[in-house]
Amino acid sequence: MTRRVHESALEVNVAGLLAEGPGAHRDLTVRDIRLPLDDDLVLAGPVEGSVRLARTNRGLLVTGRFTATLGASCSRCLTDVAVPVEFEIDEEALPTIDLTSGLPVDTSADPEAVRLSDHHELDLEPLIREGISLAEPIAPVCRPDCPGLCVVCGGDASTGDHAHADGPVDPRLEALRAFRVDGDGGNG
Ligand SMILES: [Zn+2]
Ligand SMILES: [Zn+2]
Repeated sequence: MTRRVHESALEVNVAGLLAEGPGAHRDLTVRDIRLPLDDDLVLAGPVEGSVRLARTNRGLLVTGRFTATLGASCSRCLTDVAVPVEFEIDEEALPTIDLTSGLPVDTSADPEAVRLSDHHELDLEPLIREGISLAEPIAPVCRPDCPGLCVVCGGDASTGDHAHADGPVDPRLEALRAFRVDGDGGNG
């Protein structure tokens, strides 16, 4: 059985799956999820992927594989780039409420564990969020051979007529050149 998970429904009710006992599983498809991210992370495209929820004797094993596109700046020339990333989820989620007794579970034995809500809902959002943050590229480039910024004028060294006379550059002239490059706003 495959269900679709939409943006408003990253919380999945797993009470039925828990009741089926060890070995049971559900496959979910995640489509077109857009999340606000923390810090400097920006999504330039939706999160897509699939998740398997497998009943263990303690709770659920949550495994998934996703793709997304992050917005970033080229580490050499600072142009905006869209970086495709892939990430996985592999976590065990444990109940907060005992399914048979209905009583709260002692969570102190496993304080770091991912927990289901007290309505037996699994929230996929924090798991996806963490996966994205781990997938963040360290030094993205706009293209593999990006030459970066010119060390003389600070402009984009890949622009056509980019040549400087040899020898030391007058700092005032350098500032003027940098200003002109900025003013042209050549963005590609
Ligand atoms: Zn670049
Ligand atoms: Zn230059």
